[in-house]
Amino acid sequence: MNNKAIIICRACAARNRIQLDKINFLPHCGKCKSQLEIPDKAVNINEREFSEEVLRETIPTVVDFWAPWCGPCRIVSPILDEIAGKYRGKIKVVKVNSEENPRLSAQYNVQGIPTIILFHEGKEADRIVGAAPRENILQFLHL
Ligand SMILES: [Zn+2]
Repeated sequence: MNNKAIIICRACAARNRIQLDKINFLPHCGKCKSQLEIPDKAVNINEREFSEEVLRETIPTVVDFWAPWCGPCRIVSPILDEIAGKYRGKIKVVKVNSEENPRLSAQYNVQGIPTIILFHEGKEADRIVGAAPRENILQFLHL
């Protein structure tokens, strides 16, 4: 399969689709030629970015619906950051602030936070509701 990850340029905000086998070669932005960085932790995205970052992403993508006041979210967050770093270019991890993106949260029927949804090819494959232990999250992601 011809899997490409979407990497957003930090310099010009262009969306680059990068072939996964080139991911260790530090690719450059197709628009401004700046060196691209593959995030090594979960990146916050909003409703506007969701379709490109999640629905059109071809590598498995984890979406963490969270809120700043949510204690259990703070337990899960470092685990997801760790996964984003360790499986960089293989699994993408993004965060959606559920308070700032209520329509998106409603669309995915997020009733409690944290809700962690795994997307494959833009479709929900599975979800965890509530703060799960590290082992359960790894298992959930088949790691
Ligand atoms: Zn650029």
